[in-house]
Amino acid sequence: MREVPKDAQTAAHALMVRGGYMQQLSAGVYNYLPLLYRTLNKISQIVREEMQAAGSEELLMPALQPRELWEESGRWERYTAVDGIMFSFKDRRGSVSCLGPTHEEVVTDILRREIKSYKDLPRNVFQIQTKFRDEIRPRFGLMRAREFIMKDAYSFDADEAGLEVSYEAMRQAYHKICQRIGFKYRAVEADSGAIGGTGSQEFMVLADTGEDTIIYCDHCDYAANQERAASRLAEHAQDAEPKPMEAVLGEGLIGVEPLAKFLNIPVWKTTKTLVFEADDRVVAVMVRGDCDVNEIKVTNHLGCKSLKLASAAKIKELTGAELGYAGPIGLPPSVRILADNYVNGRVNFECGANQTNYHNINVNFGRDLPLPEFGEFKIAKAGHTCPKCQGTLQSAMGIEVGHIFKLGTKYSKAMACVYLDAGGKSQPVVMGCYGIGVSRMAAAFVEQNHDDKGITWSPEIAPYQVHLVALNLEDETVRKQSEQLYAQLQQEGIDVLYDDRPLRAGEKFSDADLIGLPTRITVSKRTLEQQKVELKRRRDTAAELVAIAEAGAKVKELLGKNFR
Ligand code: ATP
Ligand code: MG
Repeated sequence: MREVPKDAQTAAHALMVRGGYMQQLSAGVYNYLPLLYRTLNKISQIVREEMQAAGSEELLMPALQPRELWEESGRWERYTAVDGIMFSFKDRRGSVSCLGPTHEEVVTDILRREIKSYKDLPRNVFQIQTKFRDEIRPRFGLMRAREFIMKDAYSFDADEAGLEVSYEAMRQAYHKICQRIGFKYRAVEADSGAIGGTGSQEFMVLADTGEDTIIYCDHCDYAANQERAASRLAEHAQDAEPKPMEAVLGEGLIGVEPLAKFLNIPVWKTTKTLVFEADDRVVAVMVRGDCDVNEIKVTNHLGCKSLKLASAAKIKELTGAELGYAGPIGLPPSVRILADNYVNGRVNFECGANQTNYHNINVNFGRDLPLPEFGEFKIAKAGHTCPKCQGTLQSAMGIEVGHIFKLGTKYSKAMACVYLDAGGKSQPVVMGCYGIGVSRMAAAFVEQNHDDKGITWSPEIAPYQVHLVALNLEDETVRKQSEQLYAQLQQEGIDVLYDDRPLRAGEKFSDADLIGLPTRITVSKRTLEQQKVELKRRRDTAAELVAIAEAGAKVKELLGKNFR
């Protein structure tokens, strides 16, 4: 296709549709056409090889899963009613099933029937399979689809020490997979989210269109998803003496910048107080004016299922003021108050007065209000200080292609996946889970590897190694030589896409650039005059003429060169 599809917001989405890699069937659901299917198989094969090398065994579990297993783990309600991420339905017998968004329940059920004693451990299994998630906003083509291909692996160990070994083996395998595919990526500390657990890392492909923000240190190896990242702020000299608190009239001053200017104080002395509805409770969260609230950290701290900003009406009901003037002093006692650690330690700070257009100044903890519940509730941002060293934090956008979790005993306890230890005592198995977005990886690779003409695959995951373009096909010699070369290259073990369409050179070349195979061979009347063919790398502009007999060897030489 020459035209950019209307719904394509990223280069990868547009190029994969234009290049004939995929077609949309419905929102977030795609047909994987022959070219894409070859690439998906190549990615799967790399993943499979590295998983097997790390000691994981391949199996295949059903996509169709019974509700009962999800009731046992306690996740049914969250995945259906609360998050709505799971497709579920009733069959003709009246039983309720779902299409698996992930497989902790099913795999735990398999292993609880297999594992009897410590002698049956450790175990590690994986599958490459279609997952279903009813994403609120399916977008960017294969990046966030409602049906997609995932590799998911699960480890089962006798204890935490065993889990450490399994997790480390998976972590290494993930690095090898990312390196073999040729990603520019970073492994970062991650939030464990709804799956739950005790530690996790994400593998992030760096790209401006990524949906995740990565925070990393310019000095040490600290790197984390912004959802999870910690940071430190510079210390400020504080006033020697507390001053008397007063409420100041400052009409229409909503943002912290104009407010600080009006009050003639630095922005760090102002305070943002955000009011949330956490399940059925109201929670106020205070952060310094120059910071923002990290809702994931607040959710984790509260252990709540849902957290959303309270409506203006709700805030008015609670504080008596319009939106923008909430503060911690004088809230109803039912409101739980949290404050970021950096809100503390300030002498004479500002906060909302719970009265429209009024701001309290010279507020001091202990004297004007009791100490709230402190914790790390601010978002770490570029410019903050690293939590581990004196370096300055930077930020970049990333696409999450892999995620490894230490699950611990969450599922094994809930579902009675136990073993008898050496002393004959029943113990819960210690689990880990490890996901890779196989189809998302294809899109992420294109996002990182394209130019204005099309995709620029590397040999490792390109659908074919060579694009053989035959011109002047009406000429019998050209046709014969091209077909011979096509057969010859395949015999030499090279994957070839043969363009024998009766089209003009320009059209064929621009299609070849769009599809983006790593090398192109052109056979024409002109090249054959010298008994040669033209060979060119997709990522180079220069081409060379090579003897027909040497074409295969030359292609292999070019493919072996560093493509990164
Ligand atoms: P995200 O935060 O992007 O929604 P997730 O953390 O929910 O993803 P996991 O449960 O960790 O995803 O799934 C493992 C992997 O599956 C992810 O790292 C990602 O590569 C891939 N993946 C998850 N959701 C999708 C989706 N909707 N479309 C394509 N790939 C996905
Ligand atoms: Mg994840």
